[in-house]
Amino acid sequence: MQRAQPQDFSRVLSSMCTEPHPVAREAAERFLATNPGDPGTYETVAKLERKAVALLGEVTGLDDAPGYVTSGGTEANIQAVRIARNRADTRTPNVVVPQSAHFSFWKAADVLGVELRTAPLEGYEANLEAVQELVDEDTVMVLGVAGTTEYGRVDDIPALVDIADEVDALTHVDAAWGGFVLPFTDHDWDFADADIDTMTIDPHKMGQAAVPAGGLLARGPELLDELAIDTPYLESHSQVTLTGTRSGAGVASAAAVMAELWPAGYREQYETSRSNARWLADALAARDVGYVEPDLPIVAIDLAHDAIDDLREFGWRVSRTEAGEARVVMMPHVTRSMLEEFVADVERVV
Ligand SMILES: *Cc1c(COP(=O)(O)O)cnc(C)c1O
Repeated sequence: MQRAQPQDFSRVLSSMCTEPHPVAREAAERFLATNPGDPGTYETVAKLERKAVALLGEVTGLDDAPGYVTSGGTEANIQAVRIARNRADTRTPNVVVPQSAHFSFWKAADVLGVELRTAPLEGYEANLEAVQELVDEDTVMVLGVAGTTEYGRVDDIPALVDIADEVDALTHVDAAWGGFVLPFTDHDWDFADADIDTMTIDPHKMGQAAVPAGGLLARGPELLDELAIDTPYLESHSQVTLTGTRSGAGVASAAAVMAELWPAGYREQYETSRSNARWLADALAARDVGYVEPDLPIVAIDLAHDAIDDLREFGWRVSRTEAGEARVVMMPHVTRSMLEEFVADVERVV
């Protein structure tokens, strides 16, 4: 039997994952048989995790960052809600998120028994007045999205912090995708820019690590301690992670690729992604095809349902936003020549 091969990335346009950087791939292979969930046994990978978290702290403006490498943005978001719920003193906790929040918050609410209150958007960002109206004394967390999954937009994080502070709620920033491009923009989004409490930032998206490598950071160790569970049969005595056995490959690849690319390599990738987003937007405008103006490098294109189906027939891996646009995420594997081919196919289907 022929060995199965993964897809290649030559027509993948909507994924937020990419080809791992060569140093990430190499480190992942080397650390396949390790478990950072048992740091007493797997000491080297535990050390690499501390290095990865320190580098995530550099990216997000936080010294001595407490945190860990999660299985992805979903786990980090669930854990952030769990920190906020455990810290608060209420039997009926609620979390206020903008409508643009990633669907992982609906999982978090379901698993943790918190009420999820969704604020409408203004344009593509959280409507601050609506958030203000939704918070009350039972609000344990307010979410700001720094790089929305569908449009790459960034909420007004400092303003959301002010609203959360009024009701003594935590502010969580979801930068799962945006975290490795935002440092090169003018946005206020990180621990140095605003008094946020927790953050999700995923090396396995724009960070170019191997899957699985997400990240959860907290401003202080006392926040992470809200997650601590005793671990009787391990050398280490407590665990803050949601999963037990974890991927040492993901941890090692994240540490390796961040050491390699932060900051110059990520900056270069951001410049390339941004100029590709601009090029695509201009190419669409020249052909009278509508699109949503990009901020971070994601372009959402107004295409009829059938046109998107036709593009999929041509092999393009392109998904729809909730509003029905085709989403192109400028990941490292998305090159200018690929976009040229894509635009030629868009011309054929409109
Ligand atoms: C991708 C994404 C997530 C979920 O991350 P996974 O690694 O897929 O679990 C959460 N939030 C945002 C903003 C994302 O883009």
